[in-house]
Amino acid sequence: MNKYKIRILQAFFVLTGLVGIMYYGFTGLIVSGILYILLEVFVGNATLHRYYGHRSFKMSYNKERILRWLAHHIGVGSVIGWSGHHRWHHKYSDTDEDLHSPTKQGIAHIIFGVWDANIPRNMIRDLLADKNLIWWHKNYFKYHIAIIIFLSIVSPWSLAFIYAIPNLCCLISGYIIAILPHMSGEAKNNFITEILTLGEGNHKFHHDYPNEYKFGKYDITGFVINKFLKNEIHNSSIK
Ligand SMILES: [Zn+2]
Ligand SMILES: [Zn+2]
Repeated sequence: MNKYKIRILQAFFVLTGLVGIMYYGFTGLIVSGILYILLEVFVGNATLHRYYGHRSFKMSYNKERILRWLAHHIGVGSVIGWSGHHRWHHKYSDTDEDLHSPTKQGIAHIIFGVWDANIPRNMIRDLLADKNLIWWHKNYFKYHIAIIIFLSIVSPWSLAFIYAIPNLCCLISGYIIAILPHMSGEAKNNFITEILTLGEGNHKFHHDYPNEYKFGKYDITGFVINKFLKNEIHNSSIK
């Protein structure tokens, strides 16, 4: 059921974003753009992908608690759900088993289809050991319904430009990462992905070395992790 709910939530981002722009105009997009940059780098790339998806660095308890909430605030599914899908992708990338291969399942399926896999529990054992992550997994949609109702009453402008559009941009960013570097049927580094997703473009490197938190010399997300998030020395081969 959750696999359909997430698509409904994401359709809501599109609809609310469009209605917001039609009603309030384009100026709010400046705020949405800044929020997208912050959410994508700190939350989508650094926290969801590299911290939870790959456990590639460590951070302090307080930072982790804030970013844990924000990781559930962006509309790509719970940490447990997203990480399971992503680890599956690394294991079966560009095969018939992959959840989002542009050459196997197709681009239309990536954007509009339902991603469905029976993720083995041992693939996400570390995440399932965390009771709070399980709570978030169970209450993910309740959280989003609550925030949608709250913002609809308090500030419909915020619903469109602070909630829906930045979340939609993070979702589109995920599609870019899933599609462009895998267009040839194998993981490749892709410069356009690097720019649009703020650091996720060295995708071949990432598939080769998934435990590295830094994907390249000019990786903005890797720089932010190094500067602001990680709290222990990690022997990255990228200097
Ligand atoms: Zn990955
Ligand atoms: Zn990939």
